[in-house]
Amino acid sequence: MAPRMDTVHADTVMPTRTSVVVIGGGIVGTSTALFLAEKGIPVVLCEKGVIGGEQSGRNWGWTRVMGRDIREIPLGLESLKLWRRMNEITGAETGFRQAGIVYLCEDQAAINRHEAWLEKARPYQLDSRLVGPDELARLFPGLARSFKAGLYTPSDGRGEPTKAAPAIATAAQRKGAGILTGCAVRTIETKGGRVCGVVTEKGAIDCDTVVLAGGAWSRLFAGSLGIKLPALNMLASVMRTEPIEGGPDIAGSGAGFSFRKRLDGGYSVALRASGVADITPDSFKLFFDFLPHLLKERHEMNLRFGTRFFEELTRPKRWAADAITPMEKTRVLDPEPVTRSFGQARDMFAAAFPAMGAVKIAEGWGGLIDATPDAIPVISALDSFPGLFLTTGFSGHGFGIGPGAGKLAADMIAGDPTSVDPSPYRYSRFLDGSWRQDRQAAAL
Ligand SMILES: Cc1cc2nc3c(=O)[nH]c(=O)nc-3n(C[C@H](O)[C@H](O)[C@H](O)COP(=O)(O)OP(=O)(O)OC[C@H]3O[C@@H](n4cnc5c(N)ncnc54)[C@H](O)[C@@H]3O)c2cc1C
Repeated sequence: MAPRMDTVHADTVMPTRTSVVVIGGGIVGTSTALFLAEKGIPVVLCEKGVIGGEQSGRNWGWTRVMGRDIREIPLGLESLKLWRRMNEITGAETGFRQAGIVYLCEDQAAINRHEAWLEKARPYQLDSRLVGPDELARLFPGLARSFKAGLYTPSDGRGEPTKAAPAIATAAQRKGAGILTGCAVRTIETKGGRVCGVVTEKGAIDCDTVVLAGGAWSRLFAGSLGIKLPALNMLASVMRTEPIEGGPDIAGSGAGFSFRKRLDGGYSVALRASGVADITPDSFKLFFDFLPHLLKERHEMNLRFGTRFFEELTRPKRWAADAITPMEKTRVLDPEPVTRSFGQARDMFAAAFPAMGAVKIAEGWGGLIDATPDAIPVISALDSFPGLFLTTGFSGHGFGIGPGAGKLAADMIAGDPTSVDPSPYRYSRFLDGSWRQDRQAAAL
């Protein structure tokens, strides 16, 4: 069952002209629209389904800097600054709580991994630190299992996925952005070699710039324009419990499962080893690019051959502007979760915190994560397509950095100074192959 998103009262009038069209109403697209609107730049966001209905409403809700790829730390820090003010910025409850996050370590190998990350992250002077069993017991009262150590970051936090993107979209609308839902963008039009508008299922909008923030659809959409975006969609499954007393306030993971307290008093819980990499035609095309990633994640990712192979094989790759597109055929991507993982996740969670008593599963869902081969996003203009800006490929950790990414995109589009260096996120790294060296340098 799909999580229910907070309602956004979308516009009913279709504009014919704006400055920027944002494709996609996830956390990244809504944040981009908000920060553009704050600058007074006319912007219209088109979402094919509902705001936040795909990854941004289905994730664990962690907003963390801890454990990030070293290239993402500055963006993560900027984003956390925005999250801290998010309720004030949006005038709504986005669920943000700076409650901290802990990675629980069962063995020395995990401790060594975290020590290596702390060393790499040292220049950023984060408040992340390794804590021993005594401090873990203080952080997690009632934790029944003992762990060797934990990597703890008090300044990390959590947001509420079903609330955040809708609140940001509504705030953007208040500041003048157009918000259209049930409105798929079919294609981008160009004139004299640069963007001049989009064609949506509800009509055309003239514009100077298009931002593609399409999540799991970005590769297909970019491909229809002749742009190669290396990304594969991976399935993740999550369940939520009924509200429960006596559980931890800090979010955590380790011992095979992850948990995060929800605003309704329940928990979002996931089994770490339940990720699925479906074999699709794209898996063959991108095999060598993704091999290192798949090997690294082999304990959490399961390869599967099934119906998705044939769905993607037969799915149109290009379409006419007056034809119904694959995006309209799937309003909200709601993949079947790995349901057998829910009981296991619940049992592990309940065994770790027996003081909570019986833990009841309320519902579970799946989400498709858009992953790039180097597991960092693309936030970049394209030299080959003037007027098109990509902000996509958040590789399973874009909820936390989504607001920062939206701010960065808005600054870049406006030609304003940026508060973080955007060069790690350049699209051209996939054209000249430099992503491989960058990944090597960032590796632990
Ligand atoms: C189970 C799960 C757990 C996760 N946990 C975390 C976590 O704890 N912390 C974290 O930081 N990240 C997490 N993530 C990742 C995070 O959710 C994503 O990286 C982030 O939400 C991506 O946001 P987005 O806006 O790029 O994409 P999305 O939220 O997927 O939004 C893209 C939107 O574009 C729309 N769209 C696509 N094409 C078109 C078109 N042509 N016209 C109109 N609309 C279009 C789609 O309908 C969709 O709504 C998790 C993801 C999953 C699935």
